[in-house]
Amino acid sequence: MANEELSEYRAKRTARSTPEPSGRSTKAATGSRFVIQRHDATNLHFDFRLQVGDVLASWAVPKGPSLDPRDKRLAARTEDHPLDYIDFEGSIPKGDYGGGTVIVWDTGDFDNLTEKDGEPVPIDRALENGHIRFALHGSKLTGAFALTQTKMHGDERNWLLVKIDDDGADRRRRPTSTQNESVLSGRTNDDLAGD
Ligand code: MN
Repeated sequence: MANEELSEYRAKRTARSTPEPSGRSTKAATGSRFVIQRHDATNLHFDFRLQVGDVLASWAVPKGPSLDPRDKRLAARTEDHPLDYIDFEGSIPKGDYGGGTVIVWDTGDFDNLTEKDGEPVPIDRALENGHIRFALHGSKLTGAFALTQTKMHGDERNWLLVKIDDDGADRRRRPTSTQNESVLSGRTNDDLAGD
């Protein structure tokens, strides 16, 4: 079934060439899931994706998430991705959009914690409003984070990803440099590049 929100996703890709999901299958939404994919493309980055309804709202985070609440990580909003992208790992051909290797660096459920004036804000509204607070239940990352739109340099795609100071915060642990393997397959980007 065609999904209007995924038209940009499809426009950027050549379905016959890329191993990525077409986004044409429909999966029932169960709970709220997130994924962080380590994407070794022209520039290495981490793709942070939160389930919002039946798509994955997405941001490219060049340095990846930090567990140190003092760090503000630039997160550039990118096109929504299909839900079945959540477990995609593979090697996108060099000439294709996003050519390079993708692994599932972390994944799990998340809780939307966004509030305004003491009232919970649904995730789709929080995304529209440019401020989402959420708790991750991943293998590498746990606890609360905030994504806030800054429109830095006049670009509405610019958001910041910040760790909230809680039990999941850690000023020393740097999982983006010490834990590079997939939580699904145990493989690294380099392993996939060698296939
Ligand atoms: Mn990417």
